[in-house]
Amino acid sequence: MKAAVYRPGLPLQIEERQAPEPGPGEVRVRIVRAGVCGTDRHILEGGFPARAGVILGHESAGIVDALGRGVDGLAPGDTVALDPNRPCHRCRACRGGRTHLCTRLESLGVTRDGGFAPFTVAPAESVYALPAGLTPAEASLAEPLSCCIHGVDVLSPRLGDHAVVLGLGAIGLMIVQLLRARGVSRILGVDPDAARRRRAEALLEEVLAPSDLDPASAGPREVVVEASGAPRALEQALSLVDDGGSVLQFGVMDPSVRVPLSPYDLFRREIRLVGAFTNPQTFARALESLARRIVDPDTILGDDLELEELPAYLAGSVHPGGLKHGVRFPD
Ligand SMILES: [Zn+2]
Ligand SMILES: [Zn+2]
Repeated sequence: MKAAVYRPGLPLQIEERQAPEPGPGEVRVRIVRAGVCGTDRHILEGGFPARAGVILGHESAGIVDALGRGVDGLAPGDTVALDPNRPCHRCRACRGGRTHLCTRLESLGVTRDGGFAPFTVAPAESVYALPAGLTPAEASLAEPLSCCIHGVDVLSPRLGDHAVVLGLGAIGLMIVQLLRARGVSRILGVDPDAARRRRAEALLEEVLAPSDLDPASAGPREVVVEASGAPRALEQALSLVDDGGSVLQFGVMDPSVRVPLSPYDLFRREIRLVGAFTNPQTFARALESLARRIVDPDTILGDDLELEELPAYLAGSVHPGGLKHGVRFPD
């Protein structure tokens, strides 16, 4: 089979691989679609650690193809999605219930072979059967959505709160829909890209370019989400949030980035600034949210790419439209 492989310092490589055999406790999945993520770019640019020689692709879904010894509850032909993150269950963080902060975290598509190949093998604990009404292509959104659900859990908006979401790519649009479902009553979306703003208008009553944003007329907003990854947006978030409000830092920035903030404001205005990493215990909820159209897959899914098109796509600097593009494998 052909697979998209990470070789440090090189563009993404398409290599010939043997289709993997499932070992004890493992499931082989025929991949239908694997989403492309900013993290894949970060890995190729050396900004996110991954194992050399690994098949990338951590947002995948497909059809069970074969079972290893000792796997029950799944059968060939079942449609499934893969939670890429697999904690060790033994370190201090895991035993304290913070499995997403595991110090020995394994991830499909980062430290173990992932979904940019027609077949992959995953431990049964990472394999989730799809709820009725959800296709594998739609379920390829479950991993990024599960991270967004964790983010909104950490942010914990209240019914009737007003919000700002900075950044209206796929992640921003998922967060907008989750905030709505949590009862946030008024959401202002902000993005510099006109095409993204136009698309977001179907989901939001107020959409602005950052240059048109005036903190005086935008407020008060109890919750603000930074989902753009732009350092300036975090500064904006801290100036937009209402006294007593909460800011979620969700956009991935380079580890070297520093942003000025006022400790006095955090104290006097009682601002809560929180982060959220990956998807602890949120994967099943993500599948449920997609199946019930709490988050509508049609608003997030972008183009299907062929595996051979992926290296050029990832080497390009543009993210056309900001939607979730993915590699689609033929039936
Ligand atoms: Zn991702
Ligand atoms: Zn652990």
